[in-house]
Amino acid sequence: MTFEVTREDVSKEQSTLKDRKKIKEEVNRRLVHGIKEENLEYDSLYSIEKSSINRDSEILSLLFHRMFFYRLNEKLSALHCDHTYRFSRQILTQMQFNRGKINDILEIFKKNGGKCDCGVLYNVESLLIGKDNSHID
Ligand SMILES: [Zn+2]
Repeated sequence: MTFEVTREDVSKEQSTLKDRKKIKEEVNRRLVHGIKEENLEYDSLYSIEKSSINRDSEILSLLFHRMFFYRLNEKLSALHCDHTYRFSRQILTQMQFNRGKINDILEIFKKNGGKCDCGVLYNVESLLIGKDNSHID
């Protein structure tokens, strides 16, 4: 794996990546290694107020920042949900969680309304993003 580190950009802290290739590299870096080097537009979706309400906010926030939901969205835009955790498992494995941890995370998804991959994306990610605090059952 090659890392291309550019230090020329002095306004880095405020700027978000626009280049598709660089975005992809940042996503993979966070997903696989848990290292954040650049800001992504996606980061601004995160709501501390909303996520902090949730009992499982610690692990769910970690998954958000490590681009789990982002990657799940990519998978589900290309392929249909077969109403299992197929893609969630794939991604969590790629994130180097062990089997026990993966099962714990899937339990947390289930508890929060994510009964399959598409449920995780629509019901669980939405607990962490946006400004609206109202909940519709
Ligand atoms: Zn589904």
